[in-house]
Amino acid sequence: MAELSRLSLNTITVRDQWSLAQCIEGCVRHGIPGISPWRDKLAQYGLERAVRHIRDAGLRVSGLCRGGMFTLPNAVEENRRAIDEAAALGADCLVMVVGGLVPGSKDLARARDMVAEGLAMILPHARSSGVKLALEPLHPMTCADRSVLSTTAQALDLCDALGPGVGVALDVYHIWWDPEIARSIARAGSRILGFHVCDWLVPTRDTVLDRGMMGDGVIDIRALRAAVEGAGYRGLIEVEVMSDRDWWRRDPDEVLRVMKERFQSAV
Ligand code: ZN
Repeated sequence: MAELSRLSLNTITVRDQWSLAQCIEGCVRHGIPGISPWRDKLAQYGLERAVRHIRDAGLRVSGLCRGGMFTLPNAVEENRRAIDEAAALGADCLVMVVGGLVPGSKDLARARDMVAEGLAMILPHARSSGVKLALEPLHPMTCADRSVLSTTAQALDLCDALGPGVGVALDVYHIWWDPEIARSIARAGSRILGFHVCDWLVPTRDTVLDRGMMGDGVIDIRALRAAVEGAGYRGLIEVEVMSDRDWWRRDPDEVLRVMKERFQSAV
C-alpha cells in the first residue's frame, strides 16, 4: 500500500477546475504533501507568489511540468526560463517532454538529433542552477506531435550521452506496454527522478486526454512501483490524470478524495 506521505498532486489532474492557488490550498486541506505545477498555471499565478504560497503551505515540489519541445522555435530560451522556475520552486526535477517532429517535416532522425542538441545546450544552465532534468519517455502514439523519445531505454541512452544532471521521469501511462521495461528500470537506478501514476482505460477514447484514475484500467501499477523502488527510487509519486470527459468535469474535492483512496488501494 502506498503511503500518503509519498503522494503528490500533479496539477493537471484538476486542470479545468482549479488555479494553482486553489491546488495548493486543496493539497493542504486533503493532507497531500507534494505538488507538481504546470508552467501555464504557474505563470497565471506569478512565480514569486507561487513560491511563497507553496513554501508557507509546507508542500514539497516533486517536479515542474514541463520543459522540452526542442523541435519548436525558441526552445533553448524557453527551457532556460523553465530551469529558473524549477530552481525558484526547489523542484525535485524539471520534467522534459522533448517534442515531436518539426511541424511539416517527416525527418524523425533529425528531430531526435535536435532533442539531443537542445538538451546539451541547456544542461550547463541546469547543472549550475541545481536543477535535474527528467526525460519523460512518452507512448509512441505521441511521437509525431509530442515526443520522439518513446522508450525508457532510448531515454537512458540519452542520459548516458549527456552525463550527470539528467535522468528519467517514469509515467506508468507511457511505460506499461514496454517489453523491456523491467530491464530499463533496473538500468535507470538512481537516475529515476520522478514516478507518475494514473491508469490506461479500455477502450481508450484518446491516448492523451482519456487517462483513468488508478485502479480503473489495465496497468499493473503496483508491479511498476515495486520495480522503481527496487531500483532505489524513494521520491514522491505524482498522480497525473488528464481526463477531459470525466475527471476534469468532477468536483475537484471529490477528485482529490478518490485520488487519495486509490493511491492507497491501487498503487
Ligand atoms: Zn507524466
